[in-house]
Amino acid sequence: MQNRNSADCIVFDEQAEYCHQIASMNRGRNLKYYIETLGCQMNEADSEQISGMLIQMGYTDTLDIAKADIIVFNTCCVRENAEFKLYGHIGKLKTVKQLKEGLLIVICGCMMQQKHIVEKIKKSYKHIDIVFGTHNRHEFPKLLFRRITEKKKIYEVWEDNKGIIEKVPVKRKSIITAFVPITYGCDNFCSYCIVPYVRGREKSRNPEMIKNEIINLASEGINEITLLGQNVNSYNCGMDFPGLLYYISDISGIDRIRFMTSHPKDLSDNLIKAMKEIPQMCSHIHLPLQSGSNSILKQMNRKYTKDEYLFLIEKIRESLKDITISTDIIVGFPGETEDDFQETLQVYEKAGFDFAYTFIYSKRSGTPAANREDQIPDDVKNRRFAKLISLVNDMTLKSNINDENKVLQVLVEGKSRTDDLVMTGRTRSNKIVNFKCDTDFTGSLIDVKIVKGHTWHLEGEKI
Ligand code: SF4
Repeated sequence: MQNRNSADCIVFDEQAEYCHQIASMNRGRNLKYYIETLGCQMNEADSEQISGMLIQMGYTDTLDIAKADIIVFNTCCVRENAEFKLYGHIGKLKTVKQLKEGLLIVICGCMMQQKHIVEKIKKSYKHIDIVFGTHNRHEFPKLLFRRITEKKKIYEVWEDNKGIIEKVPVKRKSIITAFVPITYGCDNFCSYCIVPYVRGREKSRNPEMIKNEIINLASEGINEITLLGQNVNSYNCGMDFPGLLYYISDISGIDRIRFMTSHPKDLSDNLIKAMKEIPQMCSHIHLPLQSGSNSILKQMNRKYTKDEYLFLIEKIRESLKDITISTDIIVGFPGETEDDFQETLQVYEKAGFDFAYTFIYSKRSGTPAANREDQIPDDVKNRRFAKLISLVNDMTLKSNINDENKVLQVLVEGKSRTDDLVMTGRTRSNKIVNFKCDTDFTGSLIDVKIVKGHTWHLEGEKI
């Protein structure tokens, strides 16, 4: 099979040496790091690597920003107002830095791939110590070493992805579930999306590296993995995505496999077959629709029509009887007419989605859609959004009521934040279940009878 988008692999060894040197300097100082992550699961996964590197450099984590000796902001640029939020955040840190000698502030992530933002930070936020981007995040130890020893501000952002970095230390947030990136970047260039510009062209990770990582996760007690990528189902590195699923399916100790996000144009019959045949595959697919209007789909460069999308949903439901399907919808794309919007509502209903992530279109500078003059006024976008939310909530509630009286397997993630006697977890269909229980079942797979479906969760009883 052709390795269309497989990537060179860069190993972390050189950086490990910097980690070692910084750890020696930090020994006995009890230094702490605080990290804040904005955006998607990919950024969460990157932050877990950044945390892993910081731990190797002798820092321990804190959730209290005031106690931190190094503060890291891992930024996202998918929403328009994220930029202003970041400036607000880092502006406030100027006084914090003045009051705490030696405090280091680091800004990284997607937003730093945009030159004008780095220029603004250089010019207007001189209290920021280090800036790096998504492609060179593995160089963080070297950049921090230079910041400490050369006493200069560091602004270093690679324009493109030179390869996939392996063996970066990772500090996982959860001891039960884990993200495993399998592709980086995206080649699709949907006309509203900034991702291909800031994350670069799509690259697939070596399958053996992926398998080894999952074997290690299983040995650490992780039960569930989510394979991550901007477009996971176009994975291609000596095998395709279904091939990868079969390849990792013999790893013992992993009870559940999820993946996200999929592009409808790449969801093959073989993937549906793999989901049916591999027992660990969870019964959930997240399949962004974005719009139900053919004209808008074309302008978005989504490469499918509404009928093709609905046909795909039918095929999935025919083969995978218990499947839950979620989606993403954008309202107010430039030029969207009332008829286009009504079509989105109709397709949403026809597809029978179980839940959705909904977005009001926001301009991302540098994308084709941002330059269009036929932007939709805010009041129209807000009105349409409210209608969409109402439909989404009604259908989510219906889907959850449909689960009443079923016995579902739940992977228990911990106690509820609001009640110590309530445990919370997820079904294979990725729905949240809360149930009363005086024993701590965190990390276990248990059967729960669903007694009530609510809009945002299921209420159950342990059986
Ligand atoms: S598939 Fe489209 S929306 Fe998704 S990351 Fe790629 S360009 Fe963005």
